[in-house]
Amino acid sequence: MKGLLDVSEARERLEAGGLRVTSQRLLVLQILARAEAHLDAEGIYNLAREQGFHVSLATVYRTLSRLKETGLVDQRFFGPEHKREYYEAADKAEHYHFVCLSCGKVVEVNTPRIAQARRELAEEYGLVLAAACTCFEGYCAECAAESGKGKARGHGLAAVS
Ligand SMILES: [Zn+2]
Ligand SMILES: [Zn+2]
Repeated sequence: MKGLLDVSEARERLEAGGLRVTSQRLLVLQILARAEAHLDAEGIYNLAREQGFHVSLATVYRTLSRLKETGLVDQRFFGPEHKREYYEAADKAEHYHFVCLSCGKVVEVNTPRIAQARRELAEEYGLVLAAACTCFEGYCAECAAESGKGKARGHGLAAVS
């Protein structure tokens, strides 16, 4: 269950991020905080319209990029065709995304390997890892079973940043 973001919380976050509080920014933050799924700009736009808000798609894109700049929203991964960017509120625990190339399902995953990579980068290169942008692609358990592919073709594992 994701934390619900109320208006005053959204307001505080915008101010903390140094952003003027506008109704569009509040709206986008709230939609992302309440979203059950990961949303792209069009998904946010559609939800806004369903809730009776008159915003344009261009406004949603503009709002997202401002929220992204201030770290309130993360652009997390791309769709299978690498064209659509999906977003989520930046307050969730660190996790990575697996996108099924067949059914499009998104699975949130985590692995201790990332923590291990953090230690290795620090030890070997003196680098301090602030965030890792890793995106996995392939076939989910159901799709793999259904097609009997098991080890499916395609480029399998792709790192996207
Ligand atoms: Zn699938
Ligand atoms: Zn996620």
